[in-house]
Amino acid sequence: MITFKRVGHLNIGVMKLIKISITLGVFIFLSFSCMQSTRENMPKKQFAIAIHGGAGVISKNLPDSVRKNYEKGLQEALDLGKNLLEKGSPALDVVEQVIHVLENNPLFNAGKGAVFTAKGEHELDAAIMNGKTLATGAVAGVKTVKNPISLARKVMTETPHVLLMGAGAEEFADSQDITRVPNSYFDTENRRKQLERAQQKSAEILKSDTYGTVGCVVLDKDGNLAAGTSTGGMTNKKFGRVGDAPIIGAGTYANNETCAISATGTGEEFIRHTVTARISALFEYKNYSIEKASDYVIHKVLQPGDGGVICVDKFGNIAMPFNSAGMFRGAADSEGLFEVKIWE
Ligand code: ASP
Repeated sequence: MITFKRVGHLNIGVMKLIKISITLGVFIFLSFSCMQSTRENMPKKQFAIAIHGGAGVISKNLPDSVRKNYEKGLQEALDLGKNLLEKGSPALDVVEQVIHVLENNPLFNAGKGAVFTAKGEHELDAAIMNGKTLATGAVAGVKTVKNPISLARKVMTETPHVLLMGAGAEEFADSQDITRVPNSYFDTENRRKQLERAQQKSAEILKSDTYGTVGCVVLDKDGNLAAGTSTGGMTNKKFGRVGDAPIIGAGTYANNETCAISATGTGEEFIRHTVTARISALFEYKNYSIEKASDYVIHKVLQPGDGGVICVDKFGNIAMPFNSAGMFRGAADSEGLFEVKIWE
């Protein structure tokens, strides 16, 4: 009898414990799924696009005419992207075409207008990524490819590889429908003066003169994300130096499960801190919003002055944080947003 009573008491205790655990379990489960569903039920925009034209020490005393030229260049690219998206163009096409416009604009440090290396040449890096399949292609250190973003796309679609460099990438360009130009095509007076200034100051690289890298991130009407980045790198960089732009997870990343990101700034820092992959991971594993994830990496992981990112998440939310004095950037979406900014 005594034994039975004890077991009875024990049973009541165990039952209570089980009840409490179940209630607690249900509570935790409900709160978690609530958290999840708040984000998953977010209204999704039909499309969204963000672009950048580089981050750096952009003086607020920029002459009006120069500022207007930059704004015009960004507006032209953003306008094209928005129109293509409205018509239902796929994210990858939009990224490639928008970056073409920026590469062909001598104001930006990509394609025509790229910065000079310490040897007085141009070496270009670019990458593109398809968020739907995680397919990606990149080129590094190419000297004669007019639009490196298109060669990056060919690496993605026409080879089993992810990154081709230098002479090998150029030889591959000849087997594709890719325009090559003499290295001097990329020369501009402005960039030559920047190199001279950097070499006079015997600065390894001159951060203040380097801005102008270009990037584009897109969510299209089919819900696909894509990202692309193209750059001449840093003024006075060493022969053979490769920056973050063609390194997937550093300067460029896209994944339909999370977001698309393109970075600009001191490439070495973006590589060290795997900036774009880290933002995507915070979004995915910590449930951060795109704003919180990108702010965290730009302001808590990187150092002031390192640069910035443009991001669009799978819902069409856009974030464009930077920790430098300015970042040329623009954003548009299906809800009527259309803006181009340099500072604040
Ligand atoms: N991130 C580029 C690089 O390091 C430069 C820049 O964005 O200004 O090559």
